[in-house]
Amino acid sequence: MDQGILLRKVIIRLSAMMGRIGNSENNIKKRETTHANLTHTDSYHILDIEIDRGIDACSNGLCDVTEKDIPLFKYNEIPEFLHGNPYVVKGYRVCLPFSLCLKSLFLWSNETVNIWSHLLGFFVFLFLMLYDNLIALPYLKSGYTDHLIVTIGLICYQFCMLCSTGFHMFACHSERASKRWLAVDLAGISIGIIGCYLPAVHYAFYCLSIWRDVYLITIAVLSTATLLVQLHPNYHSWTKHRLLIYCGLVAYGIIPSIHWTVLNGGISSHIVQRGTFDFMGSSHQWWHVIIVFAFLYWHYAGQDLLDYRLNHPCNAY
Ligand SMILES: [Zn+2]
Repeated sequence: MDQGILLRKVIIRLSAMMGRIGNSENNIKKRETTHANLTHTDSYHILDIEIDRGIDACSNGLCDVTEKDIPLFKYNEIPEFLHGNPYVVKGYRVCLPFSLCLKSLFLWSNETVNIWSHLLGFFVFLFLMLYDNLIALPYLKSGYTDHLIVTIGLICYQFCMLCSTGFHMFACHSERASKRWLAVDLAGISIGIIGCYLPAVHYAFYCLSIWRDVYLITIAVLSTATLLVQLHPNYHSWTKHRLLIYCGLVAYGIIPSIHWTVLNGGISSHIVQRGTFDFMGSSHQWWHVIIVFAFLYWHYAGQDLLDYRLNHPCNAY
């Protein structure tokens, strides 16, 4: 659907709710002018999000609504750039200004679980970073390097969580914002993967510094390559290639894992029912929750390795 028509629909619905039908045509023109002129003097852009200074913003009838007044749309009503999962048939936010994107944090839409799962995930990893540095690591009598490795790992997780939260919050703002924030979200995944590799490889190969450096450098090169590929202007449309790149980056972990196992002698379903899981239980929401728990599991696995290393010095080999 054309974005102009959609904007009209959004504003007419909003105006009807607020009893301003008489002014809706006028409001539509002002809103479209704001969107059409990207160098509007009353707004500026951060990562392709248009942020109003509040002067003209209120004349379009959108700035003073509460989250309860935000209209939600069905899959067949939303513009092409918001198409993704046809099994989620309703609950879509469309072309919201910056302030309403923020207010929609408290709106029950099909993005609410996606936004909150990773926003809360961010706070969990922030808390763990403080707890580990102030309590857990001093208790284990860890050194300076341990603090550094654990902190960098947890910062990577927090970055990944924030990028994902931003994407799900602002993708409905405009087509440009959607593409930009998808790139931010994907960059966050790359950083999150680095956060998984760093402590695991560091502690697993603690006593084999050559192999540790080989794996860490390889991971750094592969992650940088995935970040650079994301700069390509058509990257957002390479859905299958993108998936392959991330699978490759994660699958690479099998090599150091097998190596480590040998040294020490020593695992998708797509079950969705159309329309049933619009607001809660859709496949992407499961993915979000799984990511948070995977990061948590990985973090504690890293701590077990750290604990083992502190109790088994390298000369034990
Ligand atoms: Zn997501």
